[in-house]
Amino acid sequence: MRDLLGGKGANLAEMASLRLPVPPGFTISTRVCTHFYQHDHKYPKGLEAGVEKSLARVEKALGRKFGDASNPLLVSVRSGARVSMPGMMDTVLNLGLTDESVKGLEAASRNPRFAWDSYRRFCQMYGDVVLKLKPENKNDPDPFEELIDRKKTARGVTQDTDLGADDLRELVGEFRDLIRRRTRRDVPQEPREQLWEAMGAVFGSWDNDRAITYRRINNIPDEWGTAVTVQSMVFGNLGADCATGVAFTRDPATGEKGIYGEFLPNAQGEDVVAGIRTPRQISLAAGRKWAIRSSIAEDERRAKYPTLEESFPEVYKQLLQISARLERHFRDCQDMEFTIERRRLFMLQTRNGKRTAEAAVRIAVDMANERLIDRPTALTRVEPGQLEQFLHPRLDPTSKKEVLARGLPASPGAVFGEVAFSADEAVAVSGAGRPVILVRVETSPEDIHGMQVAEGILTARGGMTSHAAVVARGMGKCCVAGCSALEIDYGAGTLSANGAVVRRGEYITLDGSSGEVIRGRVPTVQPAMPAYFRKFLSWADHERRLGVRANADTPNDARVAREFGAEGIGLCRTEHMFFQSERIDAVREMIMAENARQRARALAKILPMQREDFVGILEVMAGLPVTIRLLDPPLHEFLPKEDGEIRDLAAKIGVSPDHLKQVRDSLFEFNPMLGHRGSRLGISYPEIYKAQARAILEAACELRARRVRALPEIMLPLIGDRREFEILAAEIHQVAGEVFAERGMKVPFTVGTMIELPRACILANEIGAVAEFFSFGTNDLTQMTYGLSRDDSAKFLGDYLRREIYKKDPFQELDASGVGDLMRIAIERGRKANRTLKIGICGEHGGDPQSVKTCHRLGLDYVSCSPYRIPVARLAAAQAAIESRKAKREFKDV
Ligand code: PEP
Ligand code: MG
Repeated sequence: MRDLLGGKGANLAEMASLRLPVPPGFTISTRVCTHFYQHDHKYPKGLEAGVEKSLARVEKALGRKFGDASNPLLVSVRSGARVSMPGMMDTVLNLGLTDESVKGLEAASRNPRFAWDSYRRFCQMYGDVVLKLKPENKNDPDPFEELIDRKKTARGVTQDTDLGADDLRELVGEFRDLIRRRTRRDVPQEPREQLWEAMGAVFGSWDNDRAITYRRINNIPDEWGTAVTVQSMVFGNLGADCATGVAFTRDPATGEKGIYGEFLPNAQGEDVVAGIRTPRQISLAAGRKWAIRSSIAEDERRAKYPTLEESFPEVYKQLLQISARLERHFRDCQDMEFTIERRRLFMLQTRNGKRTAEAAVRIAVDMANERLIDRPTALTRVEPGQLEQFLHPRLDPTSKKEVLARGLPASPGAVFGEVAFSADEAVAVSGAGRPVILVRVETSPEDIHGMQVAEGILTARGGMTSHAAVVARGMGKCCVAGCSALEIDYGAGTLSANGAVVRRGEYITLDGSSGEVIRGRVPTVQPAMPAYFRKFLSWADHERRLGVRANADTPNDARVAREFGAEGIGLCRTEHMFFQSERIDAVREMIMAENARQRARALAKILPMQREDFVGILEVMAGLPVTIRLLDPPLHEFLPKEDGEIRDLAAKIGVSPDHLKQVRDSLFEFNPMLGHRGSRLGISYPEIYKAQARAILEAACELRARRVRALPEIMLPLIGDRREFEILAAEIHQVAGEVFAERGMKVPFTVGTMIELPRACILANEIGAVAEFFSFGTNDLTQMTYGLSRDDSAKFLGDYLRREIYKKDPFQELDASGVGDLMRIAIERGRKANRTLKIGICGEHGGDPQSVKTCHRLGLDYVSCSPYRIPVARLAAAQAAIESRKAKREFKDV
């Protein structure tokens, strides 16, 4: 049903079938949208008759007629895709109003102000959405809002609600003059024309820039199209006994159980989202919390900001019942829009609520515990990538901070960055490699590209359900919304709060959990993992088949990795150890060596340091496998580049600067990635790999003597031939024999290889016969398969993504069809040659959810990724197992 009616239409239909109070209406399916795009914006035959029939049914249900001059039926026209795309497409409200019928509405409602305000809103939306009268550039004010502001100034008032019926009537005239002047068209006076034009505009909004961007970011296929729902209007702005609001069945920020939301008395839906007035809380408990956070005394809160529970107790009760009912029905947290018309509740919409990572996990765990859903379902309810948000740093509580202002804690995390006042500015700062905070009075869907690149988002207006809050939460970004103490001057490029001024390009820090806006950069710390998070991941561990290891090069990384649940290390890159300041000179001395003896002497200086590193890491990972890769990068990477550094190094190691330069020049390569690197270093300089193998095995022996179980796996990089592997493995085994004889003990160890070259994949039967494990280095394997430089391709990869040659950056998401197929060949051939061959992946893809799923399908034994992505990989691996079980079941059922 969702595919045809869109999320909104399907849920409305379902609410109606649950006999909940839904205003009558009908939905035109996404098929019509597809037809519309395939046939040059024309509708299929029969649609007109269908619309007429449905409209007649609605008229009958309400006893009003569309276009009637005395008691008009008014409708809204809304978009609704299969998945929610908040604010990306268009809506037009109050259709059916004309110069004639507005008078009918005036009489029927006995409220001239309401009638003219409705007509004013309709003309404004029609002008904007259908006739495309928009600001000419981003920082220009909205032309309609400008007229409203002018009117308020002329009347000496500040609030829209202070404008009377006559003001609004004048505004309608001024809006229409403006529309006629700028678009050479008028707001039609024939309701059916309004309806068809609005439907066309809403179908058309599927292809506006912001919807396209949103689809690209969220992987929504262009072919899906939107449905259009035409629904009778109910009014939350008829007077003090009316209201409109948004409510969640659970708190979307924390996941806490209980209704949570905001409403505005005497208002229409868009007033809540636009954040122009301060919204009120639904429940009394939330209202009290809100008052404390906003430093408002309880008496003042009760007088000025009473909650729905206090102002509309009956409706509140009914809303609680509906909320529980909807949650039970959809078995997920719902985000509901409602309107109260003359104390009567209408449900306008329900959908699965967007939530923070924290809330997503908590809701999933709670719902499983409440037996609303089973554990595998709970596990599929959280987007694995979201878990990284959980582990987001928080502000270091010990550091000093200059709090400029406090807004709403709309989406958690702690971030700092340069202040940028527009989306384009944010893109420029981020493009220059600097962190950026997007600061806007309020955001709109046009800001989406700026929000995407920003570390965090700060707005002066809007509540927890404003555009900024909803979108940031969905993106997993830190957001502070509705920070009303802020004054933002786009022209001057400043924000000021409580007397302090911050200029464009200066740093601020946001705390999305407290809502604080802080001057400068505040250091952050890693949060502790709450109990329900651990429980959730333990359920994931129960489901998954893939092992999860970490890429870690230091004992500290290894510790963090274990904390996050790593079951060993899949890649320890030893070169990072070489760069440490006290070692680099010895490494350079080794590179400068003119013969094996000199090289061995320099290596002897490095060996004890390396041994210490390995002792540290193997100890943290006691009892778990640790894959240590021997030196991989080309040697020139270790040599100094500047003349001054060359002179200093020459003096230190007692050679002439010219000689040093000569060596450096001799190491120069046009294509270092295809050059003297990886196991080729071990072939040319056996002493290097032998010394590293010795350090690893001595470390393992040392631990064994202390009864610590070390399980090293020695890994050769960039192997492309069986013989190459055999020579190096034999040398390692020779060193092992020596070390074990010297120490009088043996330790278990294995020797395996990275699979990073297409040739290694093809010849995996030969290499697999002699290697004990494979680990796919998919960074290099992607580079080599595509012939695409890891270091240089960023410049043009964007063009390939934009023109949809590649769907995804292949360095981020494993290319399942190309690189994945080479892996499949390697796995099949490798395992055929060696049944016990252990196979993993240690390229960056090991922490990407989609790639983890590909690895599951390929039958790998484990994935390895950076420590912070381990929970992501654990969950993605569980989801992969659940999905494949489900697919098998469905296959059986067929
Ligand atoms: C790889 O190539 O995937 C890999 C893990 O090695 P590196 O990134 O160090 O080249
Ligand atoms: Mg590599």
